[in-house]
Amino acid sequence: MRIDEALAWAKSRLETESPRLDAEVLLAHVLGKGRTYLISHNDSVLDEPALQAYQRLIAERETGRPVAHLIGKREFWSLEFQVSPATLIPRPETELLVELVLEEAAPAGAKVLDLGTGTGAIACALAHERPDWRFTAVDVSQEAVELATTNVLSLGLTNVRCLRSNWYDAVGDEQFHVIVSNPPYIDALDIHLTQGDVRFEPASALVAADHGLADIRMIAAGAGRHLLAGGLLAVEHGYDQGAAAREIFSTAGYVDVRTHQDLAGHDRITLGRLPE
Ligand code: GLN
Repeated sequence: MRIDEALAWAKSRLETESPRLDAEVLLAHVLGKGRTYLISHNDSVLDEPALQAYQRLIAERETGRPVAHLIGKREFWSLEFQVSPATLIPRPETELLVELVLEEAAPAGAKVLDLGTGTGAIACALAHERPDWRFTAVDVSQEAVELATTNVLSLGLTNVRCLRSNWYDAVGDEQFHVIVSNPPYIDALDIHLTQGDVRFEPASALVAADHGLADIRMIAAGAGRHLLAGGLLAVEHGYDQGAAAREIFSTAGYVDVRTHQDLAGHDRITLGRLPE
């Protein structure tokens, strides 16, 4: 089978959101090449082992397993992250959180806390951009802490330490200039949880009580003790949680509270500062 035929075959079988892209990523992975190779070599014939490996991956993808799990990695902020079923797969929307934090004023050598770091994507992307900042990335899952540590090391970052902690529990009395988080924020009854890739991600990274707002509330309340005066809190939330997040921030005493929209035009990130 030729490369173009293999891609067309998979495209006709997959009922995912982006069948062509999925097929290209999986075939490129099997061949150990980039996706552009597939275009420039579209009439090359696949050898038998490659074809079989590719067909196995397509069959797995047909069961719904995320592409990132099948190839064990995902790009975020143009950096490569190892992923596993133990954590959320980094999402493009979350790059907005990184972008917004980078736009905010923070002193040289700023101390940053990433709560529920998962793969470590947010902390690592920020650490890559701000080598002089110092990061503490925590997660309640030991597997997540190990994965984040692997990513910190493979990205060659020396300014991120990973720690097992249930939110602030193991953080101690340390105070930070910035606290960031992409916490679980989906309501347990949300239909979204029964469709697509999220079915293969841990519920502990997705679902929160109180209509998905419980963890954001807890983070905002605790940040009062763990943020320095004038410090920044930035959290990701659901497209319909902007008003609720602003209310939570304001009630907890934050000022300059604002919500930003993602590329799809949905409320996605709310920011606030502790008073000076
Ligand atoms: N944005 C993700 C989704 O809708 C959820 C991420 C999260 O809960 N932190 O699948």
